[in-house]
Amino acid sequence: MNKRYVIGNLKMNPNSVSETEQYLSTLRKELFGKRIDGVETVVTPPSVYLERFSRELPEHILLGAQDVFWEKEGSFTGQVSTAMLRDLHCGFTLIGHSERRTYGHETDMEVGWKVRAALHENIRPILCVGETSEERDRGEEADSVSKQVTLAFHEVSPLMAERILVAYEPRWAIGTDATPESEDILEMRIVIHRALAELYGPAVADKIPVLYGGSVKAALLDRVCFEPRMDGVLVGRESLYPHELIRIAQSVGAYGVSESDGIEHHS
Ligand code: PEP
Repeated sequence: MNKRYVIGNLKMNPNSVSETEQYLSTLRKELFGKRIDGVETVVTPPSVYLERFSRELPEHILLGAQDVFWEKEGSFTGQVSTAMLRDLHCGFTLIGHSERRTYGHETDMEVGWKVRAALHENIRPILCVGETSEERDRGEEADSVSKQVTLAFHEVSPLMAERILVAYEPRWAIGTDATPESEDILEMRIVIHRALAELYGPAVADKIPVLYGGSVKAALLDRVCFEPRMDGVLVGRESLYPHELIRIAQSVGAYGVSESDGIEHHS
């Protein structure tokens, strides 16, 4: 049984420094006297607010970035380096989020470079993969996701591979309120496990957490997380409400340890 994770992706929010203060203070208040056990909870704010989050994030909530550049330093206007993230105690970064693939035209090759750069700086990549609705309509979802996984893990050693979290985020489910059925999520979890097992063998593949992301809400956790035996969730819009993020983290952390997760595990 892997550790569980809840990632709150704030996307392009909050809108100002004062809204950021408000978010952090509500998060602190909501957490007061509560425990979140059995789950690592990570918040990924926009890079301009990372420093403030780094200073003021409540204990037990970890900091992540939404993206990172692959070069260490140099003339790369607008980019943020792995060293900058490390300096701000960012332990995680999203890589290959569908909104970056769509609006930033990020390619699988660039995603791979970013993954390796983050690992090099001891920052855990949260690798986002998922099919488009057209690919699903054509029955190509497994091929598409396997390919994204294989290219992102290219040249990553088995030891380093275990530091990566994979978030299965069907692109048609992000920001849309559409969610796949549990069986479809489990099927894609198995596809991801198989792609990883082909690269590293089943024992290493077992250790790589696979999360679900795409219109996650507390009321949907059975369907998108527990029934398909995912290792956690990547939450977008709902994470803008601190009480919802905490509610989701508490539920994911409290969910019973399962004997069987539908995947053949190896020691
Ligand atoms: C996301 O940002 O990765 C995401 C899944 O967004 P939402 O939950 O809003 O669909």
